[in-house]
Amino acid sequence: MELIKDVDSIRKLFPALDQKVNNKSLVYFDNGATAQKPLSVIELTDKMNSGVNGNIHRAVHELSARTTELYEGAREDIRKFINAKEREEIIFTPGTTASINLVANSFCQEFLKRGDAVIVTEAEHHSNIVPWQMACERIGAELRVLPVDNNGEWMMEKLAGILDDKVKIISVAHISNVLGIVNPVKELINAAHKKGVPVMIDGAQGVVHCKVDVQDLDCDFYAFSGHKLYGPTGIGILYGKREFLDRMPPWLGGGDMVGTVSFKKTTYADLPLKFEAGTPNFIGAAALGEAVRFVRSIDGDFLKTHEDELVNYLTNSLSSINGVKVFGTSANKISLFSFTVEGVHPTDLAMLLDKMGVALRSGLMCSEPLMTKFGVTGMLRASLAMYNTVSESEYFIDSLKRALKMLS
Ligand code: PLP
Repeated sequence: MELIKDVDSIRKLFPALDQKVNNKSLVYFDNGATAQKPLSVIELTDKMNSGVNGNIHRAVHELSARTTELYEGAREDIRKFINAKEREEIIFTPGTTASINLVANSFCQEFLKRGDAVIVTEAEHHSNIVPWQMACERIGAELRVLPVDNNGEWMMEKLAGILDDKVKIISVAHISNVLGIVNPVKELINAAHKKGVPVMIDGAQGVVHCKVDVQDLDCDFYAFSGHKLYGPTGIGILYGKREFLDRMPPWLGGGDMVGTVSFKKTTYADLPLKFEAGTPNFIGAAALGEAVRFVRSIDGDFLKTHEDELVNYLTNSLSSINGVKVFGTSANKISLFSFTVEGVHPTDLAMLLDKMGVALRSGLMCSEPLMTKFGVTGMLRASLAMYNTVSESEYFIDSLKRALKMLS
């Protein structure tokens, strides 16, 4: 198969990009929140909703067989995409948040006891803080926090001081949704494993911008969402090493996750179904498989060069605007820029830019502890995807300058 190597060809596959918002051509820079979908994902979703629709795993009829094949085929494509060893290690969930909650409930039930500890960092999304906090409160364990420095980078030198025998799991973001820095996850995993502590990676942003190989990373869990990876909403993945998943109790009970059921005793299905109770979002899962096939159809070298070009342009342009402060600079940064402008409220700026056709995120970014650390009550965020261009970035910078003039 010929790989796609240019941004114009990619853009043609995304109908959402070709629209006007507020009478202006859309410049969609809120991909960190959710990405637009390529035609192949839209078409498969439509095809299934229009007729290739029968509940999976349950019936002998043709439609059920076809959806089951699409569902299990997607599982296999996703296994290959992140290079998991076995298909049983790929669990469909409603998304990153659900995947982290699954581990925070099920893993902690089995492996965490009163007095133990869990580590997260100061730069996590609420989805990778609150489920652990809830589990710790329930069990009587302690939530420990690895701090970040003034640039938002993990203070690895502080890890040894909090990583003692009480720690039973560490959960960290591959890439922060605020800072866009690719975190040294491999280094952290090595340090944790030396102490026998498993590591969960929140890959909501990471899987979109990095080539993920879970065996090479040697992470114990990896979570991501379909909708940020050009797939549908309401579907995501939990990868887990079999050695843990096998020992973890089911979290949700219901159909499809059982062996035999009686009022005396119920036995559970083997992996992966043990963690997929009830009718899953099988259309979403099949379409996530399609999204992964779409990403694999784009040339990896092109993606890297293109993203570097966007990062260079925006790094230089944003830093040259008076009063702009960008949070998180690094040689290892993705095309995601959170910033403040002195004396200007982020939401005012985001609203003005919206009128100019530029969609940005503003506010706490679901990362309140990090905002507190930086002493701000909100930021603006421009997060780009593979279909965004340098000329859109130029338009964004011009619009930002115009908006700042209007507000001054
Ligand atoms: N973790 C990170 C780093 C994120 O960026 C997000 C979403 O923005 C999440 C977790 C939660 O993802 P979802 O809302 O798809 O479950």
